[in-house]
Amino acid sequence: MKRVSILGSTGSVGVQTLEVMASFPERYQVMALAAGRNVERLAEQVQRFRPELVSVAEASAAQELRSRLNGQAVEILVGEEGLEAVAVHEADLVMAALVGAVGLAPTLAAIRAGRDVALANKEVMVMSGALVLREVRAHGVALVPVDSEHSAIFQALSGAPRDSLQRLILTASGGPFLSWSADEIAQASVEQALAHPNWDMGPKISIDSATLMNKGLEVIEARWLFDVPPERIDVVVHPQSIVHSLVEFVDTSVIAQLGLPDMRVPISVALAHPERLPLDLPQLDLARCGRLDFEEPDRKRFPCLDLAFEALAVSEAAPAILNAANEVSVAAFLAGRIRFLEIAAANAAVLNAHVAGGGSGALSDLEDVLAADAWARERAEAWIEEVGERR
Ligand code: MG
Repeated sequence: MKRVSILGSTGSVGVQTLEVMASFPERYQVMALAAGRNVERLAEQVQRFRPELVSVAEASAAQELRSRLNGQAVEILVGEEGLEAVAVHEADLVMAALVGAVGLAPTLAAIRAGRDVALANKEVMVMSGALVLREVRAHGVALVPVDSEHSAIFQALSGAPRDSLQRLILTASGGPFLSWSADEIAQASVEQALAHPNWDMGPKISIDSATLMNKGLEVIEARWLFDVPPERIDVVVHPQSIVHSLVEFVDTSVIAQLGLPDMRVPISVALAHPERLPLDLPQLDLARCGRLDFEEPDRKRFPCLDLAFEALAVSEAAPAILNAANEVSVAAFLAGRIRFLEIAAANAAVLNAHVAGGGSGALSDLEDVLAADAWARERAEAWIEEVGERR
């Protein structure tokens, strides 16, 4: 029996993790769940999976959860303290499936408590990859990627000697605006940006797919997860999302992982590794796919991709700064405060301010990461307010 806790249980990955676990009740036990404000869904999960401990964002949510649970015995905690308690609670594996910077501290806490981590929360590696890897090595825990591209690379690398690796090739769907002109993209609405062709995901990551910032963040994530320098990481657009990513070896062999796009597959790999779970899902029929297309990403229409490579070159703090600016700018776009292209413009402005400031870019601990994050959020917010005032 593998005991699993989930940070972010009511989000897209959290829900699907519980779904996979529920199909194998003899293999998996839910230990602790952390959610934000979706109390209704969390209450259902608590009633169904009977965790020992849950955490919600605020006291009011805890109160509402308590009344919905009708006397069911479960410990309920709140806020950062609650997230950390879920992270370090007795378990064999912690599914880190929060979205954004909020997941950093609890994921580090899980690693420091000796928990193996399944990592869906890409910002953890984006913001503090070097720090996380140090902690993973120091505590001898396993860190298994859940992001579909990194799961593909993880699977393709399996068993290969480290020095045989030549290049990582991340595939990108291209998002909903792949075939749109620059003018059309400039006018894109929130609804259009949210309509991802292949993956059903949360709003933040859907917008990141539309800007290609998601791929940029994944390049940074791959750089640290697999300890590969950025010049050995490539991105290729593959609209069908059947090839989830590839690894090139020194003998020029390329190993890819293919499958129908469904997050339950990488989730099950992370849950069961090195075993495989027999999932009841539609099988890939290549003849029915007919064709698989590949093309270069358009770095002019989608400037966020290059911002990620730039950040990796600037400083250790720069990816954290880019990530924080992007969280603020995406939220502003979703709230109707800025236009689609201004997401990239805001991100670039904040990254440039970091470069121009010439400040220290080293990350020696969590405080440095959070300071870079806070600085970038303030900067991004100021930029967005200025744009609003000019209208
Ligand atoms: Mg991905």
